[in-house]
Amino acid sequence: MKPIIGITTFDQSQITKKLNSVSYNYINSIIMTGGLPVLLPNINNKEDVLKYLDIIDGILFTGGVDISPLNYFENPIKQVDYTSSRRDSFELELFNIAYERNIPILGICRGVQLINVALGGTLYQDINLEIADSLGHCPSEMPGDELYHSIDIKSPSILFDIFKQEKLFVNSFHHQAIKKLGRNLKITAKSSDGIIEAIESNERDFLIGVQWHPEDLTQRYCEFQNLFQAFVQACKNKV
Ligand code: MN
Repeated sequence: MKPIIGITTFDQSQITKKLNSVSYNYINSIIMTGGLPVLLPNINNKEDVLKYLDIIDGILFTGGVDISPLNYFENPIKQVDYTSSRRDSFELELFNIAYERNIPILGICRGVQLINVALGGTLYQDINLEIADSLGHCPSEMPGDELYHSIDIKSPSILFDIFKQEKLFVNSFHHQAIKKLGRNLKITAKSSDGIIEAIESNERDFLIGVQWHPEDLTQRYCEFQNLFQAFVQACKNKV
């Protein structure tokens, strides 16, 4: 039976309509590795969140706008120019209950930051401003499937088991990164300037976060399917 994978969505307001939507590359990466994707709108009712968690076998926390720094007890600097309290509160609630239940979780970009903040960590609000000698992490003109910088993967880790190599080239579309690591998390990859590029859990079966965008690479570089495959398999094991 295919595991049902909940995928979190953007919260966008246009002049005439409000949208909860997400890049098809997340959806397609789950489909191509044997999962059944279900998009999760940003609702804010605890009973309904619990109901979702009865239905789904795993959650993919997707990329998107910055998490409000209020969630880690800071005020935003001016480089933080858009946040969504609706999305923040839905995703934090969803994560907390999923974490309690040991439901498999994959976090991508904003998703890895969400995991970290939910577990009590903090973020650099803007890498280039706050870290001297940081490299490029947010090229504005690059297509999603272009490899941009290298990362060093630590072993032993689930991430190393998945990619089976210590150096990997990845894409990069983030201006924030993990600062203080959240509870029971370990760093599994860094870029050469020391930015945390991947984490996983010390105590949960499958909780992985990556700062890059594997979903944009699965079509062009099939090794990135392995990450989704491992996630979908972990979800299947819970069915
Ligand atoms: Mn990066």
